Amino acid sequence: MYENNLSKCKNCGHRIIFIRMKSGKSMPVNEQLVNYKLEDKGKDKIVTPEGDVVSCISGVDASEADGYGYVSHFATCPNAQKHRKKA
Ligand SMILES: [Zn+2]
Repeated sequence: MYENNLSKCKNCGHRIIFIRMKSGKSMPVNEQLVNYKLEDKGKDKIVTPEGDVVSCISGVDASEADGYGYVSHFATCPNAQKHRKKA
């Protein structure tokens, strides 16, 4: 169905996976799966293995989680500034 393309971030060397998004783009995410609870106004964004991005609270206990997914690597990369240009 989908492939996990294990790779490394060019900026920090962190192990990342490329998720094929439903839009057709590939999104770099951290390889570690996290539990999330759906929350419309949640400050966190999780990329699901199916290629959706959901607003949620991440890192909840499995007992109250709605699912699991990945954190965008751009959100946690220590060198993230290099990924984006200032608007
Ligand atoms: Zn990085």
